[in-house]
Amino acid sequence: MPQCQEPVELFSADKLHARVRELAVEINADYAPESSLHLAAVLKGGFVFLVDLMRALARPATIDFVAMKSYGSETCSQYIPRMVKDLEEEITGRDVLVVEDIVDTGQTLSRLLEKLSERNPRSLRTVALLNKPSRRLVSLELDYVGFTIDNQFVVGYGLDYAERYRHLPYIGLLEPLPQTE
Ligand code: 5GP
Repeated sequence: MPQCQEPVELFSADKLHARVRELAVEINADYAPESSLHLAAVLKGGFVFLVDLMRALARPATIDFVAMKSYGSETCSQYIPRMVKDLEEEITGRDVLVVEDIVDTGQTLSRLLEKLSERNPRSLRTVALLNKPSRRLVSLELDYVGFTIDNQFVVGYGLDYAERYRHLPYIGLLEPLPQTE
């Protein structure tokens, strides 16, 4: 494997954990104590955020995973994302919180919400660790957001570039993007 370019730290591990704890407090307060929360994490990037968020929530929560893939041209930012791994559990009548790493154009999350809402969950909300509103191509309301960032490419804390950097405990900027072989 070639040498990895070192990302420039944007959010330290401490800052991420502090923000995740704040989000957990906010989320806890919004759901009735008796409601059992079902966390649906979007793979692959959302898995690290899911683990920290789940542990920060002061209530039991069930988890499941979904994966979306985007098909389209490299040069065109508009595409139709397709579900390549569905949730394992039924969500009808449940309080579902979709856990996403980053919302960029919004097409992935928008398509996912469309599909999940057809299954009639009791509630369907979203939490995104990172949000890039300047890149949005579809209108999308996010219920909880960790950090809003500019149009920058970030890695770490589950986020990758060509499957690298997911292990980093912090979120970093990768600019310029290295060449993949
Ligand atoms: P969308 O454009 O549909 O909102 O985002 C699609 C996917 O692109 C995200 O779920 C994420 O996997 C990826 N993505 C968007 N921006 C970034 C970024 O800055 N860094 C990384 N690693 N992935 C990103």
